[in-house]
Amino acid sequence: MIDVIAIDGPAASGKSTVAGCLAETLNIPYINTGNMFRAVTRAAQAAGIRTQEDCTEARLRPVLEKLQMDYRQTPEGKWDLAVNGEFPGSALRAPEIAALVSQVAAVGCVRSRLKDLQRSLAVRGMLVMEGRDIGTEIFPDSRWKFFITATPEERARRRLAQSGENVSGATLEEVARGIAERDRIDSLRAIAPLRPAPDAEIVDTTGMTISGVVGHIVARVKA
Ligand code: C5P
Repeated sequence: MIDVIAIDGPAASGKSTVAGCLAETLNIPYINTGNMFRAVTRAAQAAGIRTQEDCTEARLRPVLEKLQMDYRQTPEGKWDLAVNGEFPGSALRAPEIAALVSQVAAVGCVRSRLKDLQRSLAVRGMLVMEGRDIGTEIFPDSRWKFFITATPEERARRRLAQSGENVSGATLEEVARGIAERDRIDSLRAIAPLRPAPDAEIVDTTGMTISGVVGHIVARVKA
């Protein structure tokens, strides 16, 4: 068993907020793997990759070759994803990246490169890692596994409330459609699809507060 708290779940389920608060409460590092897929997507878009048809191994391999990713301390002392020596931060949350990230994340060479990176980070001791396949593929031997979810309506409301993550003027219906499409692609892909690990605890956070969810998970981890 490895001392990783695996937090998986569908888009906009609140898992990043929960994972971040959990790591802070337990004073351990937090790794957001969605940002790694977003960083690859951003580089792919800069290289002219725009559509699902463009997302091939042949087009994405050279993008990966030029991409250097690791975790470093920001000038403020926070650990964050560095891409070619810079911290992209909130730029990764842009809606145009969200519109292509699931197509990029379904490609084998992208997943295997990021799997290596994600697994290499666990040598630093106990941590929270959040994504879609942490409990199933990256650390099937993790000590704690949670699958965070909420109703589609609640998730759309939460995503619409997040500034910087939506096309300006987007409606609740449009946001809900974008989330559903991402979940559809993530759940149907051949490699490491989105699904709860058989031994994960499913936490439906609809109607729960963030501190309620974090408190529940902390209690489980400390038990
Ligand atoms: O978590 P976030 O919404 O930022 O993830 C963006 C996308 O990255 C997901 O929709 C999914 O396509 C991909 N992803 C993944 N595996 C992970 C984390 C994210 O496929 N472990």
